[in-house]
Amino acid sequence: MIELYKVSKQVPSGGETLTILHELDLVIPDGQFVSVIGPSGSGKSTLLGLIAGLDAPTSGDIRIDGQSIVGAGEDALAELRGEKIGIVFQSFHLIPSLTAYENIIVPMEIAGLKGAKERTHELLEDVDLLARAHHYPSQLSGGEQQRVAIARAFANNPKILLADEPTGNLDSQNGRHVFDLMIQMNRRRNATLLLVTHDHDLASQADRRISLRDGRVVKEEVMVEAAQS
Ligand code: ADP
Ligand code: MG
Repeated sequence: MIELYKVSKQVPSGGETLTILHELDLVIPDGQFVSVIGPSGSGKSTLLGLIAGLDAPTSGDIRIDGQSIVGAGEDALAELRGEKIGIVFQSFHLIPSLTAYENIIVPMEIAGLKGAKERTHELLEDVDLLARAHHYPSQLSGGEQQRVAIARAFANNPKILLADEPTGNLDSQNGRHVFDLMIQMNRRRNATLLLVTHDHDLASQADRRISLRDGRVVKEEVMVEAAQS
C-alpha cells in the first residue's frame, strides 16, 4: 500500500517559494491501477518522484507498506526501490554503452540477485526482444528501447510500478505494446500501477483516475467499467 498524508512540495525560486504540490492525501491499495493526468507542469512527475523516494517532500509523510520513507537514507531508499519498486520514464534512461542484455542484467548483478542470467533471458522474451539482446540502445527503435527499460524495471518483480509518461515518446502501436506489458504486470502479478499519461484513452482504463492541476488534485474518479471487470 502507498500512503501519502499531507504531502506537499515547495522549492525556492528567485527569492520566493514556489509550491509545486499543495498538501495532498492519497492512499493507493495494493494492486490498484491509478492513472494520473493533468497539463504539463501540474506536478505529476513531482508526485511520482516523491513516491519513488527520488525526491523528498517539504511536509507530510509517505509510507510504502506502512514504512515511512521520509527522512530515510539513500541506502535504505535504494534498498526499498530494489525490493519493491520498478520505475519507467518517458525518455527510457538506458545506459548507451551497454547492450539491451547488459542494461537489464547489470543492475541485477549490482543488487546481487541470484539467477540473473536466466531472469534476463526470461525478461527479454517477455518483452519480445530476445533477437535484439546484443544491440545497443542507439541500434534500437524508441519502442524497443522502452521495452528494454520495462524489462529492467520488471527484473525484481516489483509490487509497485511507477511510470512517467512511458508512452509519450512512442507512436500509438509501440505505445500500446508498452502499455499492455504494464497492464499484464498489474493484472497477472497484482502489481500496483501508477501511470502518468497524457493519453486519455489509456488513463480511462485505470481503476481510478486522478487529475492534477497547478499542484492540486482537482478531480478523482473511480472508473466503473474497470472496477466491474
Ligand atoms: P509535470 O510532470 O506535471 O509536467 P512537474 O512535476 O515536472 O510537472 O513540475 C511541476 C512544476 O514544478 C513545473 O512548473 C516545474 O517547472 C516545477 N519544478 C519541478 N521541479 C522543480 C525544481 N527542482 N525546481 C524548481 N521548479 C521545479
Ligand atoms: Mg512530467
